[in-house]
Amino acid sequence: MDYIQGFNRDQLFMMDFEANVPQDSWARIVDLFVETLPLDELGFEDLLNDQGRPPFKASDLLKLLLYGYKNQIRSSRKLEKACKINLEVIWLLKGLRPSARKIAYFRKNNANAFKQAFRYFVLILKEADLIEGQTIAIDSFKIRAQNSLKNNFNQKKIDRHLAYIDDKIEQYEKELNQNDEVDSKKKIVIQNKIATQKTRKADYKNIEKELQESGESQISTTDPDARAVVLHRNIVNVGYNIQAGCDGKHKLFINNDTGSVNDTHALSPMAIDAKELLGVDKMNCITDKGYTTAVQIDTCIKNNIATYSSPKEHSSQKNGLYNMNTFVYDAKNDTYTCPAQQILYTNGKIYNKRNHRVKHYKTKACKGCELREKCTTNKSGRFIERSIYQEALEQNEKRVEQNPEYYKLRQQITEHQFGTLKRQWGFTYTLMKGKQHVLSEVNLMMICYNLRRLMSIFDIDVLKNRLKALFLSFFPKMSSFYSFLRLYNSQINFILFDKSKKVKPLNAFC
Ligand code: SF4
Repeated sequence: MDYIQGFNRDQLFMMDFEANVPQDSWARIVDLFVETLPLDELGFEDLLNDQGRPPFKASDLLKLLLYGYKNQIRSSRKLEKACKINLEVIWLLKGLRPSARKIAYFRKNNANAFKQAFRYFVLILKEADLIEGQTIAIDSFKIRAQNSLKNNFNQKKIDRHLAYIDDKIEQYEKELNQNDEVDSKKKIVIQNKIATQKTRKADYKNIEKELQESGESQISTTDPDARAVVLHRNIVNVGYNIQAGCDGKHKLFINNDTGSVNDTHALSPMAIDAKELLGVDKMNCITDKGYTTAVQIDTCIKNNIATYSSPKEHSSQKNGLYNMNTFVYDAKNDTYTCPAQQILYTNGKIYNKRNHRVKHYKTKACKGCELREKCTTNKSGRFIERSIYQEALEQNEKRVEQNPEYYKLRQQITEHQFGTLKRQWGFTYTLMKGKQHVLSEVNLMMICYNLRRLMSIFDIDVLKNRLKALFLSFFPKMSSFYSFLRLYNSQINFILFDKSKKVKPLNAFC
């Protein structure tokens, strides 16, 4: 039977790398993007040696990382290998072969520079009107950390381990004491077991001390910044909860952060950071109910950010008793009127309740009230806690109810990016330890995502030309300008820079 034949391996070939990399290749876009970045100003450091071989250029290593992160090649060893076997990478790095260690050091030493590069890119996109800054959506996704669940402790877990060890020690000591006829060999074995358990106990005591000194509710021993998070449904693992802000116009990433295991306190820091970065006077911010916290919404409003955060159910709505909607608040007198038309008063004191600041409202009429069974199970009668930021919460609820279609934009603006990062690009776990370094990976991923998104928005040739033009006009340093011109002289669409033709360079993307 006749089959399609491959080439003859013994034949000598002349190979053109340029021809082997397609014009619409990711490698070409990355090459163009990095060459036009002002790396020194962004804080990238070359890996300088005092002696010996000259260092690799930061731009080459950044290109390698951006190429790899988009293509699920993230580990430094895999990237090192790609430099030898991947034709696109060989083209991109012009045959350079940095070692895994060099790649890892570069990634480790430039955490802040990755962040600056991402934010610089966002500013450029804003200047180009690809990011509007009118409507942003904030949401979070979880990734696993370099820390196993076994190496994450809270007080409950430590107590459980200590109790188990104490039991074991007691059991071994009993064995020793009860049976005087235990032969010396067995005695030594049991004594060794006791010693082992005592060492383990000392280790757990140290962890307990660390936990208490940290003031946190949990501690991770391999990556101290990692926390036990609910990955999805009821599956708990040690990881990071990554916050991401996205713009409504083209669904591009704006900013990111990580810290808390949930979203309760993330709204105002993220929204204010996005507003300041984009330099806008006001902004709308859409989030799901995980972000709905009175104090956060109040802070946003004070910063000219209108929140559209899905209202949370009041706890009274779940227990079958009169819910809070049946109590009418009188702002003028600062009182509530209950379903039995009784007035609930406050003593004016503000109480700290976990992270909330609340006022209490109650009435003596509860004692003889006929509706009491439907209203409260509390012996002293119904009492209402009202956040001092309740007004902000109510304004937010009103906005969401009056604009249901606008609120529905949230899912369109923000969630699909996480699917791309996690499912398509394999970003379900981090390779780095520590918040700052984990954010390095997030920033690299987000640069890749925004860049890849531009490839969908524009025709590839248009994108290439406009990328060159845009970066040049946004960062008009003469040195960069001339080096850029030398590099791309043959390809630049000079019309974009010809002021006599009244074409604004910064609108090159529009
Ligand atoms: S129990 Fe108290 S708060 Fe509830 S309806 Fe009766 S008087 Fe009003």
